[in-house]
Amino acid sequence: MSDCIFCKIANHEIPTTMVYEDDLVAAFADMNPQAPVHVLVVPKQHYANIVDGVPANTLAAMASAVDEVAKAKGIRESGFRVIANTGDDAGQTVHHLHWHVLGGAKMGEGLL
Ligand code: 5GP
Ligand code: ZN
Repeated sequence: MSDCIFCKIANHEIPTTMVYEDDLVAAFADMNPQAPVHVLVVPKQHYANIVDGVPANTLAAMASAVDEVAKAKGIRESGFRVIANTGDDAGQTVHHLHWHVLGGAKMGEGLL
């Protein structure tokens, strides 16, 4: 998708500091963080959301990337949230599959 911002970020068309990256996925900081740690995990291929026929190996790579992000950000033991806003009722604004990894605070005390 030539006009998709997350396609461009994940495939290095827009320079970004990656928190984690492999052949299938990229992880980078959200530009408008909602918690002390707020990282987005996205596939390098374009899928609109989690119900857009995402291959199992891509979903597995995203789950593995969440683990790597949690380790890199030091929130793996303290805990964190993983959220996939999907479609209009959920308020999905970027229509390229992404998982929000949110942590670094307790729920209600800096973590939404
Ligand atoms: P959602 O679609 O799940 O509501 O959220 C999209 C998220 O992407 C938001 O948290 C927003 O801050 C983030 N976002 C939108 N555009 C960009 C961008 O160009 N760069 C980065 N790093 N984050 C973005
Ligand atoms: Zn895309």
